[in-house]
Parts: sequence; structure tokens; C-alpha cells
Amino acid sequence: MPPVVTDAIVLHAADYLESSRLVRLVTRQHGVQSAVARGARNSRKRFGSALDLFAEGQAHLDWRPGRDLQALTGFDAVRIRPALAADLGRFAAASALAECVLRLMHDEVAPQGYDRVAAGLEAIAGAAPPAVNEAALGAVWRVVSAAGFAPAVDHCAECGAALDPAMACRFHHGVGGCLCEGCGRHLPGGRLLPPPARDAVRRWVDWGGDHPGRPIPADPVALTEIEAKAHQRLLREFVATHAPDNRPLKAWTAWEQEAWTAT
Ligand SMILES: [Zn+2]
Repeated sequence: MPPVVTDAIVLHAADYLESSRLVRLVTRQHGVQSAVARGARNSRKRFGSALDLFAEGQAHLDWRPGRDLQALTGFDAVRIRPALAADLGRFAAASALAECVLRLMHDEVAPQGYDRVAAGLEAIAGAAPPAVNEAALGAVWRVVSAAGFAPAVDHCAECGAALDPAMACRFHHGVGGCLCEGCGRHLPGGRLLPPPARDAVRRWVDWGGDHPGRPIPADPVALTEIEAKAHQRLLREFVATHAPDNRPLKAWTAWEQEAWTAT
């Protein structure tokens, strides 16, 4: 089979044996793929300076369908996003986004998902520190939606009834979004979402749905610190509910707890 050349972003990277790198990539053509780059640490010609986390470019894969570990034979980096590595808050937010992508996206063709990951990393890299969390929350909601888990915000996720935009409603992770009053009474669990929180989720999910090429607004939501924490918790619970395994979301937890500020 001829080599596949596809747009790709490095979402996880680790050294392997003496000179190789193991990477997990989100690709435009083949969704999420694990690959080994043999000799990557010795070959600047084939791999540039390194296969760095969050680097984006063209991956050359000796691609075999169904194989768990593909062979990465080259990577032409187009963007290396140094702003993400230079700031711990941005790095933690980007790592949380990467973790969600790796948990929710699989090896199917995912052009919309790919574009949303790329746009999300750009938004996090370009955000001023107070807006980093909003940029990441928006990016993850859009990836979640691209992965098939778009939450219901204007209609009841259970019965489909239209919801009053002025009313708080119960957000139920397992059912997949907001519930009307009647369904909320019969389905225990979930969290009460006041109208501004529902508006925020709607704006995050809507952006890029109808206009995939539209740039992200500079300050799409503007949350207080307490609101941002509540949104991080809500989205963590939602991702954990829909991820196919029960492994803890380590990078997300570090982001949510601001582990990098601990002394
Ligand atoms: Zn209902």
C-alpha cells in the first residue's frame, strides 16, 4: 500500500527505545492514530527538530488498515505552537483538549473534528490568560459535538419539548443535555443550569457548526472564575459519561485544579 500523507496534529508524544518516538495523532483522513517514528530523535531530515506536542503538519504514514500502531515515516511540521509550551495555563488547557480528543475520537475519517482541534489549539495559544479557559471550554464542546455528542440546549434531550430560554433547566449527562421540567422530575441526577450557563454552552457548540471556516470570536463568553470552574466540572462529567472507558481524565483534572500553581 502506498504511503498516506495526511494533515495531522501531535496530541501525545513519548520517547521510545533509544532513538524513536511514539505519538498519537489526530489526522484529517484517518481520525486518531497511534504511530511509531523509528529513529525520529536521530533524523532531523525526516522529522525536523522533533515531534513536539501540539505540532501540526503533514504526517507520512506507512498506513495499514486495522493496525494498532502505524509507522510514521516523516512529519513536515507547519505549525509548532510555541505559545502553548511557554505558559503553564495554556499548556494545561491544551493538554485537557488533547485528552478529550483521544478519548472521544477514533480511527474514522473526521475532517470536521480535525479542524475543530486545530482551531481550538489556535484559540488557546492566542488567548490572553483570563480567556484561556473559555477558549479551551469552547474548543472541547465543539470537539465533543463533532464526535457525535452535541448536547441538547434548546429542546429537552428526553422528550424534545422546546425549553424556555429564561428558565434554569437540569442538564443530564447520560440523556445528553437539558431536560424539561417534567422529564427533569423523573430522571434523577445532572446539574441545574441557569440561563447564562446554557447560553454559554449554546454559543460554544454553535460556533463552527454552521460556519466551519469562521474565526473564533476574540472573547466569546467572558466567564467569572467561579463560572469557569462550574463549566469545567460540567464538561468533565459530560466527557467522562460519554468516553467509552472509565479511565480518569488526568490532564483535565490537572487543568481544573490548576495543579501547576500548587507549591
Ligand atoms: Zn422532556
